[in-house]
Amino acid sequence: MSNNTSKIVTNCQICGQTPLESILFLGYLPPAEDFHSIGERPKEEQSYPAEILYCKNCHLVQSGLIVNQTVIFPKSYAYISSNTKLLRDNFAELYGEVSSMFGLKQEDLVVDIGSNDGNLLSNFKDKAKVLGVTPEDIGKIAIERGIPTLLDYFTKEIAEKIKKEYGTAKIITATNAFAHIDNVNDLVESILEVLQDDGLFITESHYLLQLIKMNQFDSVYHEHLRHYSLHSLKYLLETHGLQIIHAKQIPTHAGSIRVYAARKDKYPVQDTVPALLDEEKKTILSKEALDDFRKRTMLAKLDLVALLRDIKKRGGRVYGIGAPFRGTTLIKYVGIDEGIVDCVLEVQSSPKINKYIPGTLIPILEESKLYEDQPEYALLFSWQITDELVQKLKERGFRGDFIVPLPTPRIIKNK
Ligand SMILES: [Zn+2]
Repeated sequence: MSNNTSKIVTNCQICGQTPLESILFLGYLPPAEDFHSIGERPKEEQSYPAEILYCKNCHLVQSGLIVNQTVIFPKSYAYISSNTKLLRDNFAELYGEVSSMFGLKQEDLVVDIGSNDGNLLSNFKDKAKVLGVTPEDIGKIAIERGIPTLLDYFTKEIAEKIKKEYGTAKIITATNAFAHIDNVNDLVESILEVLQDDGLFITESHYLLQLIKMNQFDSVYHEHLRHYSLHSLKYLLETHGLQIIHAKQIPTHAGSIRVYAARKDKYPVQDTVPALLDEEKKTILSKEALDDFRKRTMLAKLDLVALLRDIKKRGGRVYGIGAPFRGTTLIKYVGIDEGIVDCVLEVQSSPKINKYIPGTLIPILEESKLYEDQPEYALLFSWQITDELVQKLKERGFRGDFIVPLPTPRIIKNK
């Protein structure tokens, strides 16, 4: 049985500390990509505990269970990075920052780990040598776009192969993948294998500061193994002889952090690093702050239930918009079912259409249904892009109101 290979986390994934402190338990959740076809009868299914733990030593917040990767990454529902404007803009901005701060020569090699469809590397492609690494089928799109890509996991062996066949890298990037790959210490060692002496490692991850400030309990799902603070990234990278030289908050995935690291004393450390470390200490790295987060999560659930109860009593229809991983966590934790939300809508090209939301009988249907049926409410599961969604749905003719579930459940009237 594949579930036997899931690992209970007893020691911190970065520093090995034990015991770890439980800060939130959302119950048992199905794998976020466990989609079943509409009409299929419910049968026996696997669920896994969704708990996050806090390490007092290195300040990492992490998943309490590492689910067997073949269960949680079936590959076929991968998001396409280039489809999201926010991600396209972010990587263009990343390129601008790198070239203005550090310069880039045509012969420099840029390696992207978890390169998706080549969205990030497309910015570097004409200015340097590029190489993507991803085990996902989606890497074939990058190859078609003229971005050399190894369709594999980034392992020690692949790192050695890159060094031998392509040389060392001036820049290595890992966005999102850095929170999703198991054995993060091995991962950093493999990165060092390829990074040239004055090279830069740049990583972007969903940021713990925003997770806690904005009540983002919905970013807890089995694929998400680590929720980084800058403190924990600093601890991790320093363990391997790397120094963080620049850090900044960026808007992707409802609040992320971008960090630049290099071998020790190769570049001056910018003021951005101590400034963010300070802010973390003041706002999130205390027992009080974490207890408060747990309480706010519970209240957000009750407030959303109360808001939906009032709508349902009046006979209002609620359709969900978007079926991201986050949506499944929110639906399961809050206890939303097909009686409360009639359906969830995705754009026409989505492979999730004609499936159920994992662990429920809520059907995922095509977005045009929203304009035909005109339900009284649209519940936004990608609430982090509320402004963009509200504008788009209004323009396309939706006349109902909007429910924004987080950070605090609220209704936006459609005037
Ligand atoms: Zn730790």
